[in-house]
Amino acid sequence: MIRFAIVPLLLALNFSMCKKNEVVSQNPQPGASSPAAGTTTAGGSPGVAPVAASPKITKPVVDQTAQTIIFCYHLLVDKVRYPGTEITPAAFEAQMKELKDRGITVISMQDLLAWKRGEKNIPPRCAIITFDDGYKSQYEVAWPIMKKYGYPFTMFIYTEGVRGGSLGGGGAITWEQLADMRDNGVDIEAHSATHQDLREGHTITLASPGGKKTRTKLTGAQYEQWVQNEVVGCKQLLEQRLGIKINCFAVPFGNYNEHVKELARNARYEAMFTVYGQPITFTSPMDSIGRYAIEANKPKVFEDAVKMIGASTSGGAPVAEVGAKDLATQPADGETVRTALPLIKANLSGIGQIDPGSVQMRVSGLGVVPATYDPKTGTVSYQVTQKLREKSCSVFVSAKSQGKKVEAHWTFGIEESATVPAAPAKPTPKK
Ligand SMILES: [Zn+2]
Repeated sequence: MIRFAIVPLLLALNFSMCKKNEVVSQNPQPGASSPAAGTTTAGGSPGVAPVAASPKITKPVVDQTAQTIIFCYHLLVDKVRYPGTEITPAAFEAQMKELKDRGITVISMQDLLAWKRGEKNIPPRCAIITFDDGYKSQYEVAWPIMKKYGYPFTMFIYTEGVRGGSLGGGGAITWEQLADMRDNGVDIEAHSATHQDLREGHTITLASPGGKKTRTKLTGAQYEQWVQNEVVGCKQLLEQRLGIKINCFAVPFGNYNEHVKELARNARYEAMFTVYGQPITFTSPMDSIGRYAIEANKPKVFEDAVKMIGASTSGGAPVAEVGAKDLATQPADGETVRTALPLIKANLSGIGQIDPGSVQMRVSGLGVVPATYDPKTGTVSYQVTQKLREKSCSVFVSAKSQGKKVEAHWTFGIEESATVPAAPAKPTPKK
């Protein structure tokens, strides 16, 4: 089996390409900013009185009107030579201070994911800080600043770019530094193995273990083997070297497609990130979460992002939760079913007058699904058509009742033999 690696000589070039390409990729990806089908906002008509007290309404669930912006930084240097990816420590710190001064809370990536799962609230206006590529300056310069402000953050690492890897030069972070960050609560996530365009047939650079470099376009089985290592091998290596669980994948340059998304989903990544900055809402698709790449020569990107989140309305109409047992759900809360293709149903007639157009169902692992609602019976149902992958599945049903949003959620189990197995484990690539 031929194992490919990049020629170390290309290191400097590759980094500068990374910079250039990530600057170029500021153009919005078609469709990336369009909200998921069936997007609902929790905005009830102002002035409409809440539904008369119903014993079924128990507790508020997560604030679905919250929004977050995600920043992506690269190198911190005193003297900027490549403004596309570099920023001075002073400018970086000024931005961290500005978030604080503007009352924008910095939250962790895992809090964002928990919010998207409906498990945890986040503040109405918040931000997430990420660092790409694994530079020593992120450990030595950025981290102390983040500690000073008490901000959590995420490191997106491409494994061959860690010191000692085929692309890990003098400016690269070391595995020991990553372990130190891990021990102190820093979130470490995946950014491929060799940081290249992940789409089939695009020009990439490979090197044989002997060091011979080849610019080539891979297709078919050769491409599949290569991209598997970029998406899955990289995750396994980070998990094994650091003893952590990886659930986020930042796509190099934002260059990917449906096939790459499918690979990432099969590898159980929960979220995929690009560099097409946009505010992230409750319904933003998890496989194309945009980040604002901050560059020394474009301070406006930061200012615009901050304004974007500043302008968003906080609060919104309250959401009330209805107990799932009152909806005669199928499968029932806590039940374990034998199929990965269940029929999911709930009876909303107990809630009261429902606006039929407002009924929405979300299923964990699938997002918003095209459920049907029958106003006569008050039943919302959806036949799962794509096998569920996890052992447990959470369903969220929401609707508007007299201007107020109500929601129910429940969780059922799927017998493991019925679920789609995770991608088979591959041997860890050895350095
Ligand atoms: Zn990168």
